Amino acid sequence: MSLQLTLTVLGCGSSSGCPVIGCDCKVCTSGNKYNQRTRCSAWINIQDKHLIIDTGTDFRNQVLREKIPRIDAILYTHPHADHLNGIDDLRAFCFRQKSAIDIYANQFTIDNMTSRFDYAFLPVHCHWNRPVLNPHVLSGRLPENICGIPIYYCDLPHGRWVSTIYRIGNIAWLTDISTVSDEAYSILQGLDYLFIDCLMEKSYPSHLSVDDAFAFAQKINAKQTYLIHMTHLLDFDELSKKCPPNIQPAYDGLQIKSTCPESIL
Ligand SMILES: [Zn+2]
Ligand SMILES: [Zn+2]
Ligand SMILES: [Zn+2]
Repeated sequence: MSLQLTLTVLGCGSSSGCPVIGCDCKVCTSGNKYNQRTRCSAWINIQDKHLIIDTGTDFRNQVLREKIPRIDAILYTHPHADHLNGIDDLRAFCFRQKSAIDIYANQFTIDNMTSRFDYAFLPVHCHWNRPVLNPHVLSGRLPENICGIPIYYCDLPHGRWVSTIYRIGNIAWLTDISTVSDEAYSILQGLDYLFIDCLMEKSYPSHLSVDDAFAFAQKINAKQTYLIHMTHLLDFDELSKKCPPNIQPAYDGLQIKSTCPESIL
């Protein structure tokens, strides 16, 4: 039996967001709501479980916009500020839920987080005036059982860093990557939805360009692909027109429904 999964795109913007502060380019000033992009993040709901991928700089506003009721686990891709620095607003969920929140990431990301945000990893106490997070290093075994949900993942190059990609049921989230490895292809077969990094038209060392994203998406061959982590150099309408079949730019608030195997607990 499979369970219904809903993914909401909390943000599909790059590190500066769009509009960019002080920029008067045609995308930043377009007035098209699909060009209003907050930092890259996703909310996944399966039955009564709520998972988040990354808590970036716009996290508080994204939570308020989508009315996220609780958080059971957070999957982190890598510790760049645009994916991490909303961490302080997790304290509101710790307070409401009266518990620590389980977070999952590779060893590098956990080490980086525990040194930069050491106060978020202190023992649980009764004031909830700071986030209280339970760190879990991804074991390397596939799938990882997170909240009873089987989750597949692997690390992909992100310039000189790596970024962890995640597959939950028949959807996959690939942000901040500069290539796709054979190991990744092996866990990305038969997807309903692929979300993939697409920074801008020009090549960039730590991200995919539009042409890179199209090429990898066509090779992965999900039923539908959405482009994420886009800068203000990409206009939604113009990019939509040049997309091949079954590929489209994502937008903040986009919601898709798919399926996930029943609990492995
Ligand atoms: Zn990023
Ligand atoms: Zn601009
Ligand atoms: Zn990054």
